Amino acid sequence: MSSDYITFTIEEKKNIALIAHDNEKSKLIAWCKENKEILAGHKLCGTGTTARMITDQTGLQVKAYNSGPLGGDQQIGCKIVEGQIDFVVFFSDPLTAQPHDPDVKALMRIAQVYDIPIAVNKATADFMLHSVYMSTTYDHEVINFHKNVQDRAKTL
Ligand code: PGA
Repeated sequence: MSSDYITFTIEEKKNIALIAHDNEKSKLIAWCKENKEILAGHKLCGTGTTARMITDQTGLQVKAYNSGPLGGDQQIGCKIVEGQIDFVVFFSDPLTAQPHDPDVKALMRIAQVYDIPIAVNKATADFMLHSVYMSTTYDHEVINFHKNVQDRAKTL
């Protein structure tokens, strides 16, 4: 019988998604400048405006998805499900209502489901980026979706 969980490996070179709400963009860009050397060793992507601003202001290469309110958060969630993003820095704004709040919640939820490290503020991002796991592989347990579907199809 197959197990309920599968071991996935986050490689040494991480696939990092960078996202910031408008009031937090300057903070994320400053953080990227501060940590440019480390970030340059990984593969970066982000929501449209955030990605463009980081590239323009730091010179780091950041693959841009759509803008967050236009579906960019959902695209990043989708890449997590497909195993193509394994580390998220999302400086969300805790003081301003966002029109795409359901998408933000969905991204945070899917990161939890897939056991993906996700920083929502600078202190967490600092602790994550300076973790020993940034320069090693990291094995983690993720729900075995084949078995999950098989079991549900049989029992529901
Ligand atoms: P943006 O999207 O980078 O296109 O501004 C971020 C967000 O608001 O989710």
